[in-house]
Amino acid sequence: MDLTYSLEDLAFRERARRWFEANTPRHELTTLEQRRSWHRTLYEAGYVGMGWPREYGGRDATPMQQAIVADEMARVNAPPTINGLGIGIVGPTIIVHGTEAQKQRYLRKILSAEELWCQLYSEPNAGSDLASLRTRAEDRGDHFEVTGQKIWTSGGLIADWGLLLARTDPRVPKHKGISCFLISLRQPGVEVRPLKQITGSAEFAEVFMTQARVEKSDLIGRLGQGWEIAQTTLSYERGGNSLARVTRYAMAFRQLVESTRTLRRSGRPLLDDPVVRGRLGRLYAELEVQRYAALRVLSALEKGESPGPASSITKLSYSEFEKRFYEVALEILGPYGQASSGLPANLTLPVVGSSGHGNTWPYAFLWSRAGTIYSGSSEIQKNVIGERVLGLPKEPRADRVKV
Ligand SMILES: Cc1cc2nc3c(=O)[nH]c(=O)nc-3n(C[C@H](O)[C@H](O)[C@H](O)COP(=O)(O)OP(=O)(O)OC[C@H]3O[C@@H](n4cnc5c(N)ncnc54)[C@H](O)[C@@H]3O)c2cc1C
Repeated sequence: MDLTYSLEDLAFRERARRWFEANTPRHELTTLEQRRSWHRTLYEAGYVGMGWPREYGGRDATPMQQAIVADEMARVNAPPTINGLGIGIVGPTIIVHGTEAQKQRYLRKILSAEELWCQLYSEPNAGSDLASLRTRAEDRGDHFEVTGQKIWTSGGLIADWGLLLARTDPRVPKHKGISCFLISLRQPGVEVRPLKQITGSAEFAEVFMTQARVEKSDLIGRLGQGWEIAQTTLSYERGGNSLARVTRYAMAFRQLVESTRTLRRSGRPLLDDPVVRGRLGRLYAELEVQRYAALRVLSALEKGESPGPASSITKLSYSEFEKRFYEVALEILGPYGQASSGLPANLTLPVVGSSGHGNTWPYAFLWSRAGTIYSGSSEIQKNVIGERVLGLPKEPRADRVKV
């Protein structure tokens, strides 16, 4: 693995850095229109969907260039794109499995955020065990009719469309009877309800579908191919972008160190406390481990290799690290780490969180709980690592036992 940047990459980084320093909004984006407008600015500058093929509006950018842009965005704490799931998951799924007509109809509008997307996979009893999902799509001749409930739908409240997994054949083994569809959420028969999180915001929704309509032309791939298609989607979710995370952690770490210089205990800066220094030292060492792990993924992607199931190692490692990191930060900062407002100006402690949303330590701490759940929980990552990386026997499961 060669960790030096090429001259071209360095020049590219320099251009991106200048652009983000000049164009990143200085204030928090609160309205949908502000977020959409920031997304459009990014899109027009060519920083959205960079890895997509040129013919569909992308730039055929290398994994390195994508990592550099994500990294530069993290460095200036730029707000994320508004259509993250559309760009990161739905678009690539359509590019790999969609028809030419689907590509022409949907891809550009995803890039420009004219249409916002969400991912309709999880159900109340089908999260880790996704293949047991029960939402059904029935063939009604000229269209499909969808009935069921989805949950934990990120961005569901603002989405116009969803990438849906639904059961089309209940008679075959559970993985085989699932199909993948594009469904409009702006139609009668679809109800979206907000779910309030521990952070106080409602970035998720529950989506209820009652005889909702899906056009025949909006089936992705073949009938019954949904499970295979979902594996493509999930590999995008667990894949790259780790370097930008590390940049965010590193910035939060610097802010933490700064705060320990400002805050005093018994008249002396917290940073003078040997226990605090020890904790910070350990965090820093762990942070460097994360950086090398992210570079390893990037190096594999640059060589055209897919990190495959091994990306579960990175996902497990960074999400568990993130939890430890913000726990230790709150412990060090004491009451100052828990207040989200009302502190005197010299004690207001801003932080860069991994989500790109919110800028307080309590928010970042609470959000860090999500990392070990989304895109497959830590326990599931351990199963993947055990079974598919280490080749250990599969875990015994009731639905795998032959009668
Ligand atoms: C921030 C966030 C965003 C999300 N966004 C979306 C989204 O946009 N769209 C969407 O479809 N879903 C989304 N999800 C849902 C997410 O994919 C599920 O929460 C996740 O897959 C876990 O499923 P579950 O919540 O049903 O938990 P369960 O599957 O019920 O798991 C509960 C616990 O049991 C453990 N467990 C389950 N099975 C096993 C096993 N076989 N071996 C060992 N332990 C096991 C789990 O690891 C977990 O600790 C999001 C979740 C979060 C937190």
